[in-house]
Amino acid sequence: MLNEIKPQALLVTNFFRDQLDRYGELDNTIRLIRDALKGKSDLELILNADDPLQADFAQQTGVKAWYYGFTETTYDELTSELSREGRFCVVCGHELEYQRYHYAQLGKYHCPACNNQNPHPDFTGHDLQMNPEISFVINELDVQSPYQGFYNAYNILAAAAMAKRLGISDPIIKQAIFNYQPRAGRMEKFIIGGKPCRLILVKNPAGFNQILQMMTQDPGRKSLFIALNDNAADGRDISWIWDAEAEILARTEAGLAEVVCSGQRSGDMALRIKYAGVDTARIRIISGLQEGIEQTLKIESETAYILCTYTALFACRKILVKMQAQQQETMPEYQRSRAGGS
Ligand SMILES: [Zn+2]
Repeated sequence: MLNEIKPQALLVTNFFRDQLDRYGELDNTIRLIRDALKGKSDLELILNADDPLQADFAQQTGVKAWYYGFTETTYDELTSELSREGRFCVVCGHELEYQRYHYAQLGKYHCPACNNQNPHPDFTGHDLQMNPEISFVINELDVQSPYQGFYNAYNILAAAAMAKRLGISDPIIKQAIFNYQPRAGRMEKFIIGGKPCRLILVKNPAGFNQILQMMTQDPGRKSLFIALNDNAADGRDISWIWDAEAEILARTEAGLAEVVCSGQRSGDMALRIKYAGVDTARIRIISGLQEGIEQTLKIESETAYILCTYTALFACRKILVKMQAQQQETMPEYQRSRAGGS
């Protein structure tokens, strides 16, 4: 593609394993992207300083690179048992040492053998707060977003870094981040029966882990709905659910009331959650999406999280949109303005 269009800059977010049957192994994906960039001297790269899988991109491609990354945050962990990529140094193959993890392989790393370490970021995210909505400071610019989750904080930082490189002014960047509302499946919010419901797309272990950790940061009891499909667009291979840290759900601080497993592979998801240590009395299998969502909303909780793989996402969204609209029709006028979602 880079031979047909001439972009001014190219942004790389992060590398995670995703849908093996569509994209193949991660190493292959990284190599394809890196090789396509070689010798493109009229291009500039915006790279994630915290992702060790990108550490050699500038050197390997000979392309000028700018970096974005986060300083220490209160959400970091000192160790990581979660499944992750990038365990080994891309330069020499030695196992990396980490001072801290932001999430997955993103963090402050160092190779004891060849001294490969995080490049110094040109665009630094600091003072990150997720309450649960995101706010932080990018160099000197403080930003606020209606999004949640560390992965979204990275997306915001990356987009702001690119915008700054393209010469867009700080007030415009700040306003755009503030106004950008979550879209379908990206933490989109509905209010049904007075209860906030969050619709979220899940498709790989790293994303799933992020959502489970984000749920833990959200205080209060949650009901959880997970629709697992295995159509071509979801990825036929659902073994990724065993690489995800579903064990988080069994911890008290996760605040899980009950979980409803739905979709074509509802039984597989229920089995995964059972093996994660969640009491089977709190796991239900309801394959139909409509009935599954209805039952989820009846569970006593403060928030409902509706997680779906790709082909279940739009069906679930339709159900939620309809339920929210029906409830507003039967509600007195004075209450309607308070109940609207985003
Ligand atoms: Zn090394």
